[in-house]
Amino acid sequence: MQLYNTLSKKVEEFKSIQETTGPVADENPKQVKMYACGPTVYDYTHIGHLRKYVMDDVLVRVLRHAGYDVKHVQNITDVGHLVSDGDEGEDKMEKGARQYGQTAWEIAKKFEDYFFYSMDLMGILRPTLSCRASEHIQSQLGMVLTLEKKGFTYVIENEGVYFDTSKLETYGELIGHDPRRTLRASRIGEVTGKKNPSDFALWKFEKAGEKRQMVWPSPWHQRSFPGWHIECSAMSIEHLGPQIDIHTGGVDHIAVHHTNEIAQSESYTGKKPFAKFWVHHNFLLVDGQKMSKSLNNFYTIDDILQKGFTPAALRLLFLSSHYRSEQNFTFQSLTASQNAFYKLLQAYLTIKKKRQLELAHPASIAPSTTQADQEAQKLLQQFFAFVENDLNTPEALSVVWQVLKSQLSNTQKYRLLLEFDRILGLGLIAMSEADLPISDQKLVAVNTLPPDLQKLFKQRETARKEKDFTKADEIRTKFAQAGYQLIDQTDRVLIKHQA
Ligand SMILES: [Zn+2]
Repeated sequence: MQLYNTLSKKVEEFKSIQETTGPVADENPKQVKMYACGPTVYDYTHIGHLRKYVMDDVLVRVLRHAGYDVKHVQNITDVGHLVSDGDEGEDKMEKGARQYGQTAWEIAKKFEDYFFYSMDLMGILRPTLSCRASEHIQSQLGMVLTLEKKGFTYVIENEGVYFDTSKLETYGELIGHDPRRTLRASRIGEVTGKKNPSDFALWKFEKAGEKRQMVWPSPWHQRSFPGWHIECSAMSIEHLGPQIDIHTGGVDHIAVHHTNEIAQSESYTGKKPFAKFWVHHNFLLVDGQKMSKSLNNFYTIDDILQKGFTPAALRLLFLSSHYRSEQNFTFQSLTASQNAFYKLLQAYLTIKKKRQLELAHPASIAPSTTQADQEAQKLLQQFFAFVENDLNTPEALSVVWQVLKSQLSNTQKYRLLLEFDRILGLGLIAMSEADLPISDQKLVAVNTLPPDLQKLFKQRETARKEKDFTKADEIRTKFAQAGYQLIDQTDRVLIKHQA
């Protein structure tokens, strides 16, 4: 299996640590230890997050297919992630709490639940272990104390305990030892008293007058809390040991979060490398722009469902782009993906039905030819060669369409599609006719609506054009009261009669 490693900036042959340096006592020789940076639970999980976790999921599925026993640990950041990468600004949890008028603890629970709800809908396998930062305060504190004892830290009064990056010769390997990259990312100078611009907080102190909800006593300050990076090092080491095979995250984590994770972990354990492979997922743009609440292009899985799309269509859209490329999401591309998904599902269900009929009448089945067997074998190998080549899912999908077009028997096609779906995770095996789209008969044309509703429909179109979404939603409610559901699509609005 080939995998791109941000550390070497190359596609490398994937070998686990044990495969390279020999088996470790009491450990399964096929074990792969993987740590994935998880969500900061201060707001709703959006489709940009979903892309990252879908691709983590594909990585886990491909490794398992290749025979590895993957132990996948994922954290839940429910404390300590400050708004700025430069260890300044408000804690995201406290910010979320203020914004939603609930306590930081309530917010953490609410958005952790929403995260898993979204993951399940997307067909993402749950991690082997999910761990909360707030439940690992003592191991984080213990790590900082050891780093202090080893001479890697200094205290800035009223600020926190900082890691002195000049004490670590190898600092910044992920960014080619180019400190300017950390500086740009961390917006240097926001904290006064740092010895080196790239130094970062291990432990933070509550500011005078600030009444934080999440604080713990520490030897330096009675009301203090962990820095963001330390949680990933502490939980990874606690649950997976001093060295891991794979660490994943978004490309936005390379310059600061992951660079600092490496620094503090390797200084703490004295072992190199902390992670053998660093896998980074690229961004999802929406209509060519970065997703943000202010641009009104921040979509959750519920927004996707409400617009009449199935999560499998979104998953297929993510798979159609390579994880290391930026992907641009539009509702037009999601519509195309949904059409493709339904075409695949329809074909799969037809193949399944025909196969069942054949199985009931074995005499009707033509014996499979050597040529067909070879063809099936070739397609199977092609598919896995693509996914094992740095998760090349777009090429792997082309093999799926080739199977549908091929002359293979229904049984062969059926087996291949299910085998592929163990990697793609679209969930075909659990699907039935009921998962196909609503048939056109249930859709209503505008000009057949009662006149008052036709008028309202036009008013809503105007409101939508003028971006008056409050009015558009009010009219949608009126339609619902009359037994009609409005489904907003990119280029049209579908009207479904529910009566
Ligand atoms: Zn992390």
